[in-house]
Amino acid sequence: MDLAFSDDDLAFREDVRTFVAENLPEDIAESARRGRPISKPDIQRWQRILYDQGWAAPAWPAEYGGTGWDATKRYIFDEVMAEFDTPETIPFGLLMVGPLIYTFGNDAQKARFLPTILTGEEWWCQGYSEPGAGSDLASLQTKAVRDGDNYVVNGTKTWNSSAHIADWVFCLVRTSNEGKQQEGISFLLIDMTTPGIDPKPIISIDGAHHLNMTYYTDVKVPVENRIGEENKGWTYAKFLLGHERISISEVGLSKQRLRRLKTIAAEERSHGESLIEDPTFAGKIAAAEVRLISHEYLNLRLLAEEAAGRPIGAEASLLKIRGTEIRQELTELTIEALGYYTAPFEMEQLSDRWNEPAIGPDYAAAQMPQFLFSRAATIYGGSNEVQRNIIAKMVLGL
Ligand SMILES: Cc1cc2nc3c(=O)[nH]c(=O)nc-3n(C[C@H](O)[C@H](O)[C@H](O)COP(=O)(O)OP(=O)(O)OC[C@H]3O[C@@H](n4cnc5c(N)ncnc54)[C@H](O)[C@@H]3O)c2cc1C
Repeated sequence: MDLAFSDDDLAFREDVRTFVAENLPEDIAESARRGRPISKPDIQRWQRILYDQGWAAPAWPAEYGGTGWDATKRYIFDEVMAEFDTPETIPFGLLMVGPLIYTFGNDAQKARFLPTILTGEEWWCQGYSEPGAGSDLASLQTKAVRDGDNYVVNGTKTWNSSAHIADWVFCLVRTSNEGKQQEGISFLLIDMTTPGIDPKPIISIDGAHHLNMTYYTDVKVPVENRIGEENKGWTYAKFLLGHERISISEVGLSKQRLRRLKTIAAEERSHGESLIEDPTFAGKIAAAEVRLISHEYLNLRLLAEEAAGRPIGAEASLLKIRGTEIRQELTELTIEALGYYTAPFEMEQLSDRWNEPAIGPDYAAAQMPQFLFSRAATIYGGSNEVQRNIIAKMVLGL
């Protein structure tokens, strides 16, 4: 793998920098700087700006509206986005169901769904987990029974991120009880406005509403919204989980967090000297940075191999484990650096309506919820224990 940037790559980086500097709306940049949650309309606004530039989907092939960039350009693009604290990509459409649709969907599905994923107009959520089916996903029980041109779906899905603000859900349903559990699953695309779908909030440890328990009662889904063949959904589900795990490795985001941590450590003082000058704390930052750099190189190596025609398999589990551990480490160090400024944590402090002076630096309030929510990163997308099992079996052959 050649990691040296060509003149063309360096010119490309300057183009991306100039574009972002000129086009990232000031109010969104300010929210990101303060660590405030970025709202759906703001994420859509930024996605539309990227779309108009032709940069909506860096990793998609050009024929489906992607950039067609090679791994180096994608890497540079992500770097610059992290540099400017641009809004995080919401993974469900662009990183998960989009690639699934252009890989396994039919022409009508590609024409119907890909354009609005690219523009950000339609938001997606993921309906995999159930109250009795998380790590053991293949035991899922949400049932889809064929009735003419429709399936009728009944069951309960849980932990659905963004289901309350999503327009569509990609859902795993049971269409057969014959044979192995994996052989009776189908993959449906379901309009969230269909009668019978009822998402109820689950409030997470950071006090926010990201998650939902979603009830499906006699939900009619046209058969034409099934991806691929009936009862072959497990194959598509696994493809998508690979993409999910790679996206959770979050190198760009961790780089942003590392940069913020260094800024905070340079500002915060302990016994007169800044924390970054304290050898013990500086050592902790350096250790985290070394781990992040090695994680980044692993990520790049796998991207390069994928570009050379060797699809990423169980290695996605390595990326997921390492990426989430680094994310947690960086949020822990940030809390340590800010000390008591992060303790009086109130959700209201993160809203635009909060006009009181900040307690400590204005970015402090956002750090505790980020730390708390990052606890979940080693669970979602398949827990890290289960990823270790996959590596043991598929990579180490145990
Ligand atoms: C914040 C968050 C967002 C999520 N978003 C979504 C979403 O949008 N859509 C969706 O479908 N799902 C979502 N999930 C669900 C997520 O995928 C599951 O939580 C995850 O797969 C684990 O399943 P579980 O919670 O049922 O835990 P369980 O499977 O019950 O596991 C409990 C514990 O046992 C361990 N364990 C289980 N089996 C094994 C084994 N074989 N070997 C070793 N250890 C094992 C696990 O590691 C875990 O520590 C989300 C979860 C969280 C926390």
